[in-house]
Amino acid sequence: MKEIVICNAMPIYKEAPVSPILLEENIDKLLTALLEIDAKKHYLIAPKGKIEGGIPDEITLIELEGDAGFTYGNHSAILKVLEGEKPIPLFYNDKTMEESIAILSIEELLELSEKRVYIAGAAKSPGAYKIPKNVAPRTILGACGVKTKLKGIFFGYPMGFLLDESKLDETIELTTDYIEVIDESDCVLDCLLSIANRFEQESCGRCIFGYEGVTQIRMILSDITQKKGKTTDIALLMKLCEEMKHQALCEIGVSMANTVTTAIDFFQEEIEEHITKKSCKAGVCTKFVTYHILPDLCTGCNECVDVCEEDAIEGRKRFIHVIEQEECIQCGACQEACEEEAIVKAGAGKPRCPKKPIPCKR
Ligand code: SF4
Ligand code: SF4
Ligand code: SF4
Repeated sequence: MKEIVICNAMPIYKEAPVSPILLEENIDKLLTALLEIDAKKHYLIAPKGKIEGGIPDEITLIELEGDAGFTYGNHSAILKVLEGEKPIPLFYNDKTMEESIAILSIEELLELSEKRVYIAGAAKSPGAYKIPKNVAPRTILGACGVKTKLKGIFFGYPMGFLLDESKLDETIELTTDYIEVIDESDCVLDCLLSIANRFEQESCGRCIFGYEGVTQIRMILSDITQKKGKTTDIALLMKLCEEMKHQALCEIGVSMANTVTTAIDFFQEEIEEHITKKSCKAGVCTKFVTYHILPDLCTGCNECVDVCEEDAIEGRKRFIHVIEQEECIQCGACQEACEEEAIVKAGAGKPRCPKKPIPCKR
């Protein structure tokens, strides 16, 4: 008999409210399954306000605010919650405790054969999908109806890896609630930066290699997307991540480090292009993007000149207008103002445009 059995129904990923969905769908089954486990004490930890109606007296309900995510995926943090303390994550490897305490997710408690996963990004309709637990990424893409050409897939915490299409047919064990599909219109660096932002918000701030590590990663990635990348940045990121994998106090820091190293393994060329060629092929990083006026479409209406606060557009009525690249700050206001759709954003390949305004032919 166990001393304590806990059903942890807290959502681990804020963007992926998988546990509340499972809770709502299975509440009666879940309470029965929890009580069927032979234990002295039964606990259910759930987001505040998600349990409506009563629960059996034998189960102690602990309701928590949904202000943290990843922390609730950590067993040592869950045990702290039981003691009425703040959830503090650590590597949980206490074998003696494991014999007397069972901490189960809803999926484990109900022995569900499929994993519920929130799929975001290029999925046809982002949302929660039922996916087999052991699956080849290609099956996931089929399930969520990805139409565009795939670039990569990010598997969120606790998995923490970003794979490219060469890994689509290798079976993996799905343990995360969150997947993001990255297609050709996405920039890997931009995706990595938003992942780092999420990890920074989720970090408890207690260990140097966890919190400072993720902050440094976020700053380096941000610099690269801002055209301030250095040729030493990739080596620096790798070194930092290797240290984090060994020194972080919990899996959260390790998961961030794994995400960065796998992204470098699979997308080094794209990251290097930002640093050495100062180019973002996907045209996402605004600092690398340039705006141009297509001579065939410009009617010389002068609308764009009025909205450009940098005075970066040269031209007058009935003349093809020209953007002075040195003055342009890539705000995009002119593109929005141009009713002829004559202003385009360009990445590495730039359209041919006149250097100075010339009379319109239209
Ligand atoms: S890695 Fe360190 S700072 Fe980050 S959540 Fe874990 S214990 Fe906290
Ligand atoms: S770029 Fe567009 S808004 Fe500007 S002058 Fe030409 S047609 Fe008008
Ligand atoms: S992108 Fe902004 S700064 Fe550049 S030309 Fe257009 S309006 Fe001016």
